[in-house]
Amino acid sequence: MNPTPTIIAPGSTIGIVGGGQLGRMLAVAAARLGYHCHIYAPDEAPPAAEVAAFFTRGAYDDEAALARFGAAVDVATYEFENIAAGPLSALADHAPLYPPRKALELGQDRFDEKRFVSSLGGRPAPFAAVSTRAELDLALAEIGAPAILKTRRFGYDGKGQARIMSPADADAAWASVKDAPCVLEGFIRFQSEFSILLCRSVEGEIVMWDAPRNVHVDGILDRSEVPAPLALAKTIAEAKALARKVADALGHVGVLTLEFFAGEDGAVFNEMAPRVHNSGHWTIEGAVTSQFENHIRAICGLPLGATDLVAPRVTMENLIGHEVEQWQAILADPAACLHLYGKREARPGRKMGHVTRLGEEARPA
Ligand code: AMP
Repeated sequence: MNPTPTIIAPGSTIGIVGGGQLGRMLAVAAARLGYHCHIYAPDEAPPAAEVAAFFTRGAYDDEAALARFGAAVDVATYEFENIAAGPLSALADHAPLYPPRKALELGQDRFDEKRFVSSLGGRPAPFAAVSTRAELDLALAEIGAPAILKTRRFGYDGKGQARIMSPADADAAWASVKDAPCVLEGFIRFQSEFSILLCRSVEGEIVMWDAPRNVHVDGILDRSEVPAPLALAKTIAEAKALARKVADALGHVGVLTLEFFAGEDGAVFNEMAPRVHNSGHWTIEGAVTSQFENHIRAICGLPLGATDLVAPRVTMENLIGHEVEQWQAILADPAACLHLYGKREARPGRKMGHVTRLGEEARPA
């Protein structure tokens, strides 16, 4: 039986570990509901701290500082999954922490999450753990080329990945990951990529948004489009059923995101994140309740909000690096909803903002 939630009422303080744009948008959603947010991050002036009531600058492995942070908040969450589980338990000793530790630990390791999702009937690309150069040869012999070598931990936005088009590329790929424990994955020839965004309450209620079709450029999300093409409907239904099983098996609380490839014979699981996700930013203007608000509602024990689309078609484009300089032209478009994250320096590959457009056209075939 699922527990009855403790209600953390508006007026309380929500702790958010991590200070990036996800924390910023969570804090804005929380403020709308009358909560105060307290951000914990190692950076000097993180984007989330600018819109939050309180900010503690501290390292992600500083157990004493995380314990003090836990004592200062009524409930805590994270917007960034590469935090060691040990220091986070110091926080969890002082405040309820959602999503649960199991979801965080799995989301940190590409091999463990693929094995877990497989055990629930999901189908990832063929994969094998690789921790030495010799194991890479064995895995390549088993999986074949082309393949992708990815670090098990700490990879994001295509970082910590090397493509292996033929066995001759193995040396360079292994050198690029610098002896880190890895997973080798078979290369999937997909038509589209999409993600499943869901939110689960303490009591086990699950709501899901329309699954966006996601387009990546150089391993970074470029745009998300909702609804996804009708041709993906069956594959998306299969992925939704799997995502529900994963959320239940984890006893998840809050938003959970699973990314998939639409392969020739159905949904191929790629990775998951126990948090709000870039492919769900469109929900701020495009859905009745955004991913950020529902995450706050879930961790505070409030009823979850409706996830219906509010327009026939919604698109979200990331503003990466110098693309942010287009802000004036974007503001001149009456259909554009601009979000800038307040980051001072526009480095290549850095997510600086995004723009959402609500459209009237029908869904693509
Ligand atoms: P990831 O960090 O795993 O999300 O990978 C970033 C992007 O690289 C994905 O969104 C895909 O566009 C591409 N990619 C990753 N893994 C594979 C794979 N096994 N087969 C084909 N493309 C992949």
